[in-house]
Amino acid sequence: MLKFALAGNPNCGKTTLFNVLTGSTAHVGNWPGVTVDKKEGTYKKLNVPVSVVDLPGIYSLSPYTPEEVVSRNFILDEKPDCVINVIDATNLERNLYLTTQLMEIDVPVVVALNMMDAVQRRGEKIDAAKLEEKLGMPVAEISALKGQGIRALMERAYRAAKQKRAGRTVLAETPLAHVIDDVRIALDGKETENALFHAVKLAEGDELEVKMHPDEMKMVAGFKKQAGKELFGGDFEALIADARYKYITSNFSAVVERTKRAEKMTKSEKADRVLTHRIWGIPIFLVILFGLFHLTFGEDFLYLNAIAKLFTGGAGFAQDVDAGGEVLNAFVKVFYSSAGISTPGAILFNLTGFVCDQIGGGIAAGLENAGAAAWAQGLVNEGIWAGLSGVLSFVPQILFLFLLISILEDSGYMARVAFILDRAFRKFGLSGRAFIPMIMGFGCSVPAAINTRTLADEKERVMTNRVIPFFTCGAKAPILAAVCGAVASQYTSVNADLLVFALYVFGMAMAVISVAVMRQTTMRGEAAPFIMELPDYHLPQFRSLMVHLWDKLKHYIKKAFTIIVASAIVIWFLSNFNWSWQMVGIEESILYSIGSFVQWVCTPMGFGLQLGTFGWVFVVAAVTGLIAKENVIATFYVLVPAIGAVLPGWDDGESGIGAVVALMQSTGITWQALIAFTVFNMLTIPCFAAAATVRGETPKGKFKWTVAFWMLTSYLTATAVYLVLTWWWTVFIVAALAAGFIGFIILRNRGAIVCKKKEKGAVSK
Ligand code: GDP
Ligand code: MG
Repeated sequence: MLKFALAGNPNCGKTTLFNVLTGSTAHVGNWPGVTVDKKEGTYKKLNVPVSVVDLPGIYSLSPYTPEEVVSRNFILDEKPDCVINVIDATNLERNLYLTTQLMEIDVPVVVALNMMDAVQRRGEKIDAAKLEEKLGMPVAEISALKGQGIRALMERAYRAAKQKRAGRTVLAETPLAHVIDDVRIALDGKETENALFHAVKLAEGDELEVKMHPDEMKMVAGFKKQAGKELFGGDFEALIADARYKYITSNFSAVVERTKRAEKMTKSEKADRVLTHRIWGIPIFLVILFGLFHLTFGEDFLYLNAIAKLFTGGAGFAQDVDAGGEVLNAFVKVFYSSAGISTPGAILFNLTGFVCDQIGGGIAAGLENAGAAAWAQGLVNEGIWAGLSGVLSFVPQILFLFLLISILEDSGYMARVAFILDRAFRKFGLSGRAFIPMIMGFGCSVPAAINTRTLADEKERVMTNRVIPFFTCGAKAPILAAVCGAVASQYTSVNADLLVFALYVFGMAMAVISVAVMRQTTMRGEAAPFIMELPDYHLPQFRSLMVHLWDKLKHYIKKAFTIIVASAIVIWFLSNFNWSWQMVGIEESILYSIGSFVQWVCTPMGFGLQLGTFGWVFVVAAVTGLIAKENVIATFYVLVPAIGAVLPGWDDGESGIGAVVALMQSTGITWQALIAFTVFNMLTIPCFAAAATVRGETPKGKFKWTVAFWMLTSYLTATAVYLVLTWWWTVFIVAALAAGFIGFIILRNRGAIVCKKKEKGAVSK
């Protein structure tokens, strides 16, 4: 089968084109570094099927990061029949830099001028015929987004693939042409493939190449000795880059016909004057983030009720519903409650809860009527269904949050966030590059950890992998939502949305602090330089938003019906059977004995021995969370019936989240401890899948320290949170300890405190 590779700068639309060609749903985002690994698909509209490979974006063929290596190696080693060089036509000159390198390889290349729709919208013109003539390679105008020109592109690529093409270079007029040619001939003599390309890279002093061809490198070194100093002070890499740019400007500038309008400040630039403002950038980001959480978790839409209260002497307009009839009341409550008008996220959550209740009731009645055995009824109602509904009831609300985050991503704003955060935290050793995977962590830690391949510096990669879980993922969001709901219902003065927001920001702050500390201790060094082009803002694409959501939904459903159901069944068994496999009440169950045995561990965090008989549910929930974070809340859902059965004064009418909150409260847990519990779950070892990914993305030997880091950070932080919230004056103790710790680091870094190990080393020398 013919094989075409899509190569080009980051963010030029390769993945969009790939999706159009192959019907895939690969992740498209308006920022560089979204694709980190190659992805294959098939294009079927030519006479023969063609395999198409989407590659990570590259600016040049001298890679710095692991994902860039993927692209280079694919193009050189896997011998695609044609390279489709995707170019962002709104940035022609800069994109052509890579083209001048691709053309040095002996492989057919077709240039796809993408984003022609945007070029036309700006009123610019590109003379494709002239470009084609000057490049000596076929050029096709397309819009991947609109699906225009795709067929013609593929036909040209197909024709090109049938012919041989020898590499050409634009460096023929430079002082280096001679030595490049000599090296090429030498390599040719050894039957090296792509001799011209390797010769140029050797002249640049590309590390990989120098290692591969030491003999030929001597030729370059000899030339450098003779003529070196006069030419760019011997910096041939800079000389070559300069020559490429000069060639591009003198030959290709004329193909673009710019309008006066385009030279004026674009809308994006205007927006950026505000959104990336030196001082206001971060506050604006926080406000936007809060808006997200308000719309997702708030119960008082736009705080209308709170505002009404100001004018009505505290009465407000919201009150409990009484439309008559239980089901009708429950339904009306979906949209409106004593807190106010529900926000879109709250409506989704209430609605799903309502539907789940109806389904659960239906299943229970069905089993009862069919005369199923007691254990079977328990297993289905209290095990399987409770676990499932504990996850599914949050899915629409979390999807809504994802929708909002995807809108920010696709509009181009998230790339700005990396830029703003880089400016603020660079002095602490964090770079904007590292913030991109962290922000992706809001969705799921697994792709976020994979995205750390875009980081060139190994230390930075390790640190980022460690703190990615601190950016609360979609699976942890229900923990926050449920716990904050519980807190809000105990203390009506706190708003759930505000609390969720505060916890998200707390997690981000912990990430920044952790990296700053590691930069001073185990991972010394400065933040790598951060250069990223800011993509233009654009309206989010409806189709690509829906594709994101659909992917997420599939992921949730799959997880719910596999891992979560399995965990729920296990929990149900352990909480209904004793060690000799007889069905018993919860107080004699296996889970009870294990839970009570380990409960003390959590005492410093406020959910250990100070709680009542069933206080161990929190430990059990945290442990099941190691498999998947959805389990934390699902576990409560499963345990509600068994525990409710033996609790005096338990209201059987409660179901769903209401019953979970009641169960939490029955343990006697304080709101402070509930928050500590959430913090612990946010910072501790992430789910199994995320931990395994982090392990794969970090060098050998670092993983055990990473696990230790997660355990220690979560335990200590949750303890501090509990103490400070419960007894405010403990803030002095915590602050003193923190100051002592920081002081120790500073002194140690200045050499005032010498590490024992070093002393020993010095003596033995
Ligand atoms: P990649 O990094 O090269 O894979 O680029 P993506 O496919 O992820 O696309 C980057 C951004 O460019 C996304 O926001 C796309 O919606 C946008 N984009 C891609 N192709 C086009 C196009 O033909 N026209 C316009 N206007 N935008 C496009
Ligand atoms: Mg991509």
